[in-house]
Amino acid sequence: MSTKAYSPRRPLDCTVAAKAFQKAFGAELKTRVVERGEPFALAQADTPHEIFHAMNIPVIANQWWSAYISAKQLSKRYFGALDEQGFPPNRCSYCSLGLACTLAADPATAPWGGLPRPTVLVARLTCECIQHVFSIWAEALGTDFFPLEAPAWINTLPEWYRHSRSRWEEVYDARRIDLLTAEMRELIALLERKTDRKFDLGELARLMERINEQEQLLAETAEIVGSARPCPISLNDQMTNTMIPQWHRGSDWAVAHARRFRDEVLERVRAGASGFNERVRLMWIGAGLWHDTSFYEALEERAGAVFVWSMYLPFSGAQYIRELQGRPLEALASRICSMNEVLHLPPWMSDWLVSEAERCAIDAAVVLVPPDNRLSQSGTLLAAEALRAAGVPTLMLSADMVNAATWSRDTAVGIVEDFLRREVAA
Ligand code: SF4
Repeated sequence: MSTKAYSPRRPLDCTVAAKAFQKAFGAELKTRVVERGEPFALAQADTPHEIFHAMNIPVIANQWWSAYISAKQLSKRYFGALDEQGFPPNRCSYCSLGLACTLAADPATAPWGGLPRPTVLVARLTCECIQHVFSIWAEALGTDFFPLEAPAWINTLPEWYRHSRSRWEEVYDARRIDLLTAEMRELIALLERKTDRKFDLGELARLMERINEQEQLLAETAEIVGSARPCPISLNDQMTNTMIPQWHRGSDWAVAHARRFRDEVLERVRAGASGFNERVRLMWIGAGLWHDTSFYEALEERAGAVFVWSMYLPFSGAQYIRELQGRPLEALASRICSMNEVLHLPPWMSDWLVSEAERCAIDAAVVLVPPDNRLSQSGTLLAAEALRAAGVPTLMLSADMVNAATWSRDTAVGIVEDFLRREVAA
């Protein structure tokens, strides 16, 4: 990885606070789970974390754990362990880095000395790899794997993001919602059997209302960020202040932090304190580049190319807010049963991306294309076609969100600069 340090914009104060909170959460979780033997869950990002929150069972999101390990520059070491153990070389990375860390069995280097045994592992079967990753992992950790189906859909409403709050049954298909609701009831039964915790539907309803409050604040922030000129905050500010509260959504801390984030962004816009001469407005499509987020700053500094948009912040309003209609469990199922689909699969993803590019006056888009990621879980080619058809020049960048083995920041920045010179008249 190249060493030249790019001076990032001064992060928002709430960005520093969010990172400190997540660090403290990690330490507290270790005490609760390792020292006190409390239950906890290990789950994919697109699973119903609200069930665990409503039952006061801490949950570690696999994608967060993977990004955390990657940011510590440990991915090469642990993927080496998978190579040694004969796993296929063309395996995907994002969901399997945590497994690699467990199978490397190296507490000396592993964050927290490695994960303790979870009460349960949970994942939606959104691609043909995930059940293998989680089955092997559950066996290695000596615990249960609870898979959730990911059925396709037949009927939906165009512009799902305008209807998801109130017409969620029409948007996400009532049979898909019923299936996930039934599966969540089974998951609750398993958790009540394996722990001393009881599920309370009233508690879930209260949590869902608090989440609506939080996501509304994040949706307002997305509007401010998308309409301000120049863009007031960095992509790191956006991702940090959206995703850390998402892992704790509906908690008092998360709602208060979302409000603080909005207010700090507003203050920066009012003060006109963006800090960079923005020449090109970019869209980042895909997961964050967790092993090297300085890539975003390098492009800002070298080319005045600012990443105004990534999926995390704008997704809050469109995908999370739900009118409960007296059915909190079904409303939750409608939030979860298409979380991966609307982010990564056509036609949901492409329609939304085009409307967001218009909303934020985007000049060009960069799509992260992780090698060996299964097509079944991401429709990047069709999304790029939809953006180009809408007049947004789009670059496919071959790189992995957590695996840094072949990453070179300067090479990638050079590729984007050439693309901008070629396709975007600054
Ligand atoms: S293909 Fe993607 S979603 Fe599926 S297991 Fe691999 S990284 Fe995860």
